Amino acid sequence: MPSTTRSRSLPKPIKNKWPPFISIAFATFRPPDRITVSEWADKYRILDEKSSGAPGPWKTSRVPYLRQIMDAFNDPEIEDIVFCKGSQLGGTEAEYNMLCYAVDQDPGPVLIVYPTEKLAEAASENRIEPMMLLSPAIKDKYDKRASEKLELQFSNSYIALSGANSPSSLASRPVRYVFFDEIDKFPRWAGNEANPIALAEERQKTFYNKKTVKVSTPTTKQGNIWRAYESATVRMRYHVPCPYCGHEQELTFAGVKWPKGMDDPQMIRYAAWYECGKCGQNIDDRHKMEMLRRGQWKAENTPRGRIRSIGFHLNSIYSPWLTFGDVAAKFISVKDVQEDLMNFINSWLAEPWEEKAATMDRDSVMEKQTESPEGLVPEWAQMLTAGVDVQENRMYWVVRAWGARMTSQNIAHGVVETWGALEQIMNRRWPDPQGELRWQVNFCAVDSGYDTETVYEFCLMNQEWAAPVKGASNPMMQRYRKSSIDNPGSKTHGQALYIVDTDQYKNMIAGRLCRPIGIGGYMVHSDCDLDYASQLTAEHKIRTRKGNREIDTWVKKISNAQNHYLDAEVYAALAADLLHVRYLEDLSEAPPVPEPTPMAPAPNWIRADENFLRR
Ligand SMILES: [Zn+2]
Repeated sequence: MPSTTRSRSLPKPIKNKWPPFISIAFATFRPPDRITVSEWADKYRILDEKSSGAPGPWKTSRVPYLRQIMDAFNDPEIEDIVFCKGSQLGGTEAEYNMLCYAVDQDPGPVLIVYPTEKLAEAASENRIEPMMLLSPAIKDKYDKRASEKLELQFSNSYIALSGANSPSSLASRPVRYVFFDEIDKFPRWAGNEANPIALAEERQKTFYNKKTVKVSTPTTKQGNIWRAYESATVRMRYHVPCPYCGHEQELTFAGVKWPKGMDDPQMIRYAAWYECGKCGQNIDDRHKMEMLRRGQWKAENTPRGRIRSIGFHLNSIYSPWLTFGDVAAKFISVKDVQEDLMNFINSWLAEPWEEKAATMDRDSVMEKQTESPEGLVPEWAQMLTAGVDVQENRMYWVVRAWGARMTSQNIAHGVVETWGALEQIMNRRWPDPQGELRWQVNFCAVDSGYDTETVYEFCLMNQEWAAPVKGASNPMMQRYRKSSIDNPGSKTHGQALYIVDTDQYKNMIAGRLCRPIGIGGYMVHSDCDLDYASQLTAEHKIRTRKGNREIDTWVKKISNAQNHYLDAEVYAALAADLLHVRYLEDLSEAPPVPEPTPMAPAPNWIRADENFLRR
């Protein structure tokens, strides 16, 4: 047969001509092919049936967001690649592609660190070795006979595997590449014990061209992957274009929507959609793949100097294997069990979980709906205040009625796009229960954090009822402080400006929300919507460190959640404070009913068994 003849005439392969140590040297000094990790994977990587849902040749086009992550491995400047990810995104496979590429194209000793040695053994047997044997490019380099479970030998390098729980295995020979898998599941180490991450990295010292890859779902802000992501020179987020308006945006949980009032996970799974953050159109799952293809990574910070480390963050909403409905349904089914919710936030949203010092929930707001419809000022009210949160292209406003003993109720809220429209609302007449239009907003506090100049001018022109406010950057002793606008040469110079400690007002709102409807309650009108309730409760209070002090502070439960109505209510509460709401007197004609005191003992001259009181 001609082919046999031809192959016979070929020169013998070099490896048979030279002693093994020479051929190893040849292989080691061979310059790498000019291909990237993603090109390599498309050419050589085969997914096996055992561990992959879609066995067969790897296709980067199915997971377009992984391309730049993998190809960061080819950038000679970058030493650290950090991937903080949700589940079902192909993140581990991307890490394995980099590993295979290193073995085949740019060999050097490799260390892979798993949370435990047991996991390392299992990964070696079930994942790494089968993967090497399936790749036509690597198979021939693998020396099975010389290999052990925790050390795989190749003709030109080796892969050592170890567990973060076994420090001795981490501190031996030098390595060029270190891969950390599920780095947030590494066991905690105490003060005197060696940090397994530092130990592993210590071994790379002698390599000028070293590379470290860290991949994990996050746990807390203090966890390994979140700290690594936060300290990366450049941090990347994936932006995809809206199929309707082209606006490039991150997919966040705040954009996942389902019909109002629906709470059955199965129904939500089929009814959910994604709402464009710009045009508000409903994006459905058919659009997703094309959006992913046209997506691009964008830096969320401006890096200074050389980029040595690059961090990528991606949540599971991007997964080609999950629908928007899957994400919404998952949330609905876990939201009431703290542990499950924590898992959802970590593994699906790729967000760190915060231990809460206090929290508010949407349902507790919806339960505070009184009989009084939207726009009607209740009988007990003595003043109306308003708060406005200013955003780029719109303003969120609330109007709240206040009475004695801090009793309050949101009587209306909404969104306007112009200052004229806002002015109209603040000058509107609101009816009392008899239908008499005798109410008007007494005072309104307007957030000046955004579009500051316009806010100042608006408040100057309406100074009888409006004042600008600014959140304090540090905790304050008082709830607010009166300051003045420092704007020399401007007509707003010297106008009052209120600095507000928003955390103190959020504490107040959270505390009041614990009370039932009635005196002292924090209530809403009978037509209150879920969006308002969600925004009002979008934050929780967590314990965090500031310098060497521990402080409690309110932060969003999920980053990118909408909290505009909460801010607006904080300002409305400040406005009420400025009008001395605390000192309003009870105007009802009936004499005040004394509070029941359940803990007070019965007078000892009435015995419990005496029943003369009934007569
Ligand atoms: Zn759009």
